[in-house]
Amino acid sequence: MNISIIIDKSTFQSLSFEELYRLSCYYKHIITPVLTMEILGDLKKEVQEGKPPSSERVKDFANKLFPMETIVNSHYKAILKGELLGTPVSLDGRPHVDIKKAVASESGMKGFIIKESEEEKSIYKWKEGNFTEADLELSAIWRMTTTQEDLLERLKKSLKSDSSPKFKNFDELDKSVNEVLSNPEIQEYLLISLLENYDIDANTGVQIFGRWNQQGKPLIKEFAPYAFHCLRVDTLFHFGLTSDLIGTRPTNRVDLEYLYYLPFGHVFTSNDKVHKKLAPLLLRNDQKFIAGPDLKLDLKNIVEFLNSLEIDERRKFKSVPPIIESSYTFQLWKEYFNYPIQNNGDREISEAEKEMMKEKMREFEKALEGDYIELEKSDDAEFIIKKSWISKTDPCYCGSGKKLNECCIPVDKFREIVINQIKDKIKKEIIDSYSKVDHVRFSHSTDKNLPAIIFVYKISNLDPKGLLGLLRYFKNEELKISAKIEGKFIIFSIIEKNGDEFVALNPIPCSLQQVKSFLLKNYNKICILDGLLNPENKRDVIIIIPEEGVEPRQIIINEFKI
Ligand SMILES: [Zn+2]
Repeated sequence: MNISIIIDKSTFQSLSFEELYRLSCYYKHIITPVLTMEILGDLKKEVQEGKPPSSERVKDFANKLFPMETIVNSHYKAILKGELLGTPVSLDGRPHVDIKKAVASESGMKGFIIKESEEEKSIYKWKEGNFTEADLELSAIWRMTTTQEDLLERLKKSLKSDSSPKFKNFDELDKSVNEVLSNPEIQEYLLISLLENYDIDANTGVQIFGRWNQQGKPLIKEFAPYAFHCLRVDTLFHFGLTSDLIGTRPTNRVDLEYLYYLPFGHVFTSNDKVHKKLAPLLLRNDQKFIAGPDLKLDLKNIVEFLNSLEIDERRKFKSVPPIIESSYTFQLWKEYFNYPIQNNGDREISEAEKEMMKEKMREFEKALEGDYIELEKSDDAEFIIKKSWISKTDPCYCGSGKKLNECCIPVDKFREIVINQIKDKIKKEIIDSYSKVDHVRFSHSTDKNLPAIIFVYKISNLDPKGLLGLLRYFKNEELKISAKIEGKFIIFSIIEKNGDEFVALNPIPCSLQQVKSFLLKNYNKICILDGLLNPENKRDVIIIIPEEGVEPRQIIINEFKI
């Protein structure tokens, strides 16, 4: 149950941190790639003017975007290309996201995992105050589109011949554009211009034309409704330009991009002149447009109202808006969901239900790591998971409006969670890495070397993350290892200094003879090394050293038991 909203930069900038937070409580905030680009462009401008943005400012922007509550829509060019190639696009106010894979959960439910987009990755980095090379790359693309100051002037001139139609107002323009685009005579030309305007390569173009011919050359409107939407945006803009209904401000071309994303939201908000004129022509009947300042005022009132409440009262409005008759947001909820009559959001949830919900959450969380499955139709999906990250200065998930580290997760607790996450990651890397080992060898001590347990990799499977992980986690602390033998395999278990098992490795082939003679020596100091099976004789082991003349990487063990 969501009302999705698309925001342009002017509105985004006008909203305060608290207002944007409340917006993301009551609407699904869909971030368009053009918005992240525009934010980036602003920061980039400061760099060019010799005032590099402080990490605080970069963080400020990113913090206002809260990826946990938001969703980044796929880029319009990718959606359009997919549609022309035969992947249907749903144009019903749901965001369009890239699917990473389909998975099955433990109980056999099937669903999708949403891929983290490049834009989201950038937002996470900005949250840490990192304005990096990757951003500079992104902004290079950005500059290409905005520095062509006279682009629209030139375009206007080239379009303006005596024969080009002139329209007195937007209604006339709209009517005519619809007629033109529905003319069966020019559909082939329209398809060609789609390929040209949206950078579709020649090979893909051939496939697209193949599909179109095979279907009996239908109208673009029926063949590819989303592509048709984009075509309408462009045509309205071009003829609006030649009719002097739209100005040639260079940013107008960029602003146009927001309009490509309209089908993916229920509400669009902006304070831009061109948007105000064109959006009403492009929205479906069930969609809304609200001017930026009106939305800003509404959210400001909501924030003021909530701030007048006690924190516990405030939390009740985490996912439903306060009942303020004059509020736009409230009225929208009333219209879409018959709120508050049908609202059962704040009914008491029993402990058993809570436990069941938690159990489901755990199941879905596990499914994140699940194996890939085939899912024929997207409608067969029973769940969709998106992995997000919360930072300690994001608004708290309880709805208090306070920052996370000033509310439900204090700084110390947050640090503990982070450390545990890193620990889990290292564990996984150790298990993965040692699963690739060909076999394990035991080598006795010499004058120079300690007795060693050598994990021997074939060259194609070599993966130092296991040993690096052990070194990183245990550093110079005591490390104990126990093992058991099963047939020709050895199963190692790495023990923490408090006696708990840190991690158990998968079974690895070994020679029982070697294990026996090694144990007889009763060594009290052993090391673990990485080894490489000599690719030439497939028998000898080469000990890996990080660079010439340096000791091999090794970790010391004080106890080894079987
Ligand atoms: Zn809280």
